[in-house]
Amino acid sequence: MKIAFFSAHAYDTESMDAMAKQEGIEHELHFFAHRLTLGTAQLATGCEIVVIFVNDTANAAVLRKLHSVGVRSILLRCAGFDMVDLDVAKELEMPVLRVPAYSPYAVAEHAAGLMMTLNRKYHRAYNRTREFNFNLQGLLGFDIHGKTVGIVGTGKIGALFGKICVGFGCNVIAYDVFQNAEALSYGIKYVSLEEVISQSDIISLHCPLFPTTHHLINNDSIGKMKKGVMLINTSRGGLINTKALIRGLKNGQIGSVALDVFEGENGIFYEDHSGEIMADETFTKLFTFPNVIVTGHQAYFTQEALANIAKTTMDNIRAIESNGPYVNEVKK
Ligand code: NAD
Repeated sequence: MKIAFFSAHAYDTESMDAMAKQEGIEHELHFFAHRLTLGTAQLATGCEIVVIFVNDTANAAVLRKLHSVGVRSILLRCAGFDMVDLDVAKELEMPVLRVPAYSPYAVAEHAAGLMMTLNRKYHRAYNRTREFNFNLQGLLGFDIHGKTVGIVGTGKIGALFGKICVGFGCNVIAYDVFQNAEALSYGIKYVSLEEVISQSDIISLHCPLFPTTHHLINNDSIGKMKKGVMLINTSRGGLINTKALIRGLKNGQIGSVALDVFEGENGIFYEDHSGEIMADETFTKLFTFPNVIVTGHQAYFTQEALANIAKTTMDNIRAIESNGPYVNEVKK
């Protein structure tokens, strides 16, 4: 069987090749650095399985193109599946399998790192001390201890982020459509979404991107937040209306923002654009604020996560090989 991997960087190729060897998978693995788009789909000609990542596109047109060149299954190297048209995949009888969890610790820890960096300004201190500037003006933070942290979405990652914040001595409140017993056991208290929005000093987003959560953070919700609130998004860019975010930053309603994800990240993140003129003015505007930090969808990026992604991908390949059962199938 031939298998095509899209958006494959050197670290993906290395981890997949190593795991295939370890697991005794002897299929032909083809790695393409290109993102999957309508224009690149034909690279998968002759491949039965296509393996994609967060910024690949598997919409109706791309799925039909893949099917026409012989692709019969879609494997995701990630948990989120918002880039796949599940209705069309079903119509084409292409199972879609994902990696439901690879390291919730990686993402929760990155969110905690962003929170600490925004607060204590490590990025600015790093630059200053490299030039022997030891002036502390502008580096003033606050005690995280005793602050109210609000979490939206207490699944695997949100619950762990809450646990970390409880460890800091925070009052952790959360909103989710379901209560997670593990989150409750960590001391996280469930409240309404409105209360998370209005009572939190720090808000961290950990719910998936659905039509119901699209632009959850907008002019209206920002207006109800505490003045000077810290906002962290390691989930999906589409949860935030970036124009409203910029308005909130400009009028001081939002005190600081850390983004690991951005609504228009597709085609920007995971590639080197240094030396280019960036066309997206909303994106570039974010970099003019000293109280904004952007990381390029790297929250997941730990050794453990890459190994777990590769292991589950090999398990998913085996499941396709044996026509099921598909334990990691994405169902609508
Ligand atoms: P999960 O499925 O374990 O948890 C998601 C939680 O969100 C669930 O508890 C669910 O009930 C809740 N939820 C659903 N709809 C909601 C709503 N309308 N309001 C509030 N909560 C709602 O997922 P996870 O593994 O914890 O991942 C969380 C998010 O993090 C996902 O969007 C995922 O795509 C993203 N993620 C980002 C990275 C990264 O590198 N930045 C890596 C992995 C996952």
